[in-house]
Amino acid sequence: MTKAQTAETAAPAQSGIVDMDDLVALCKRRGFVFRASEIYDGINGFWDYGPLGVALKNNLRDLWWQDMVIAPPVGPDGKVLEIVGLDSSIIQNPKAWEASGHVAGFNDPMADCKETKLRYRADHLFVCVFEEGNVWPAFMEGEDEHAVQKRIHKLGLKGEFMRLPFTDKKIAANLAKVQGPDAKEPGSLTEPRSFNLMFKTFIGATATEDDVAYLRPETAQGIFLNYRNVLSSSRVKPPFGIAQIGKAFRNEVTPRNFIYRSREFEQMEMEWFCHPDDAKMWFDFWMEQRKDWWKKVGLRDENLLIRPHDQDELSHYAKEGYGTVDVEYRFPFTAPGFGELEGVAHRCNFDLTEHQKHSGTKMEYVDPQAPDDRFIPHVIEPAAGLTRGVLAVLADAYTADPSRPSKMFMKFNPKLAPVKAAVLPLLSKDGLPEIAEKLYMSLRGKFMTEIDIKQNIGKRYARQDEIGTPFCLTVDPETHDDQAVTVRHRDTMQQERIALDKVEAYLAEKLL
Ligand code: ATP
Repeated sequence: MTKAQTAETAAPAQSGIVDMDDLVALCKRRGFVFRASEIYDGINGFWDYGPLGVALKNNLRDLWWQDMVIAPPVGPDGKVLEIVGLDSSIIQNPKAWEASGHVAGFNDPMADCKETKLRYRADHLFVCVFEEGNVWPAFMEGEDEHAVQKRIHKLGLKGEFMRLPFTDKKIAANLAKVQGPDAKEPGSLTEPRSFNLMFKTFIGATATEDDVAYLRPETAQGIFLNYRNVLSSSRVKPPFGIAQIGKAFRNEVTPRNFIYRSREFEQMEMEWFCHPDDAKMWFDFWMEQRKDWWKKVGLRDENLLIRPHDQDELSHYAKEGYGTVDVEYRFPFTAPGFGELEGVAHRCNFDLTEHQKHSGTKMEYVDPQAPDDRFIPHVIEPAAGLTRGVLAVLADAYTADPSRPSKMFMKFNPKLAPVKAAVLPLLSKDGLPEIAEKLYMSLRGKFMTEIDIKQNIGKRYARQDEIGTPFCLTVDPETHDDQAVTVRHRDTMQQERIALDKVEAYLAEKLL
């Protein structure tokens, strides 16, 4: 972001990108996501998933598990890959986090604002440097270009400026000029200080420093800790994968952008153990696979890209080897830019070697068929955020349509949609609710189905559009005669007539 820009040229607005306020409002109104502890004014960085949110999250989780563990992809040589599942403990022996480098190295630089008392991730701050002038406004990474231009304009700054990272030497030497994102005066931001992101807790009643334990900041380490158990108990050998989905906790300096960066979140991670000579091939394989998977889930191709990490962004384990690439998504608050959705890292044999050193347990793999070829496997890690994925799915699905009463609809992939079908009797009399009830009873248990009897039909369609139900099944007076219902398609609003006894097969064909 060091390109010279001018204060007068604002970036054009993106079409088709949902306004975050609209999305957050919908999520609350319809029960996708709520602020945690809302009645106590919330708690920063924590979110609760409502009835529809948990359904959407579980559906995304299940699709990942399906494509990783139940039916893993076919490899470059045409053979089906071997991947097994795991569910490891959130709290592990704290020595595990010393070995993994998290105790010493899982730090973020933070800068405090003395004026507003707000705290920022220093590596997410950018400063607009004007050669002339004593005010250099700072912005959070990914901030809308319009907002940046507006603030520069308000400050009366004119002409060319460079955008430099807050961690740049030139900024360090000129801190007095830097005006924090929310500050009124320049010079209030402190130099960056290192901050460990792991949440600490105490095990047992005494709560001394010897009892400290950590909530896992990633699911990956639980996989490395069980690598030998899995090898000896399952019929796998390298190359193979271990997959895990679960909660992770990071005491983020600046949780923000709704569920994008929270302090408690869920990850879907897979560690792929392979021969060191094949690591490059597998790295390239997984990078493509993962982007394609997000496309398959329904995210639009133009909103996805693969971005290699710059050298200075690499984690402690990825400095050697083939580095890390991110699968990025054009989130509403990064648009027209992109933000990380999933990382694919070549972790070399860093983790297994460190655990071998710290625990004394041998991590070498010896192939019984070729006992001279001993190696500690290299690891390729596709690490995705489940909750961040939910946000991408929500943002991608939000489709404006002024012609509908709801003015919008959620265009979820039907496999992800929280509710698959809604049974709606046109009238709440003349025996129609009874037929609807019978249809509903035959579908529930097979597909997530709702029955909605009250209100006028327009309002009921509007609600189903807002929650992204792909099929509405309307029972009308004609149903008595033709034993059929009208199926209304969410995306096109087109209607077709389907016999009552064919509805289940019809839905199965569309949804399974
Ligand atoms: P970032 O650069 O955004 O902090 P990261 O590179 O530290 O992310 P990883 O450690 O690679 O993230 O974690 C894998 C995935 O977990 C990320 O791609 C993201 O989807 C998700 N993730 C990481 N941190 C958070 C968070 N605080 N809230 C929600 N999801 C997260």
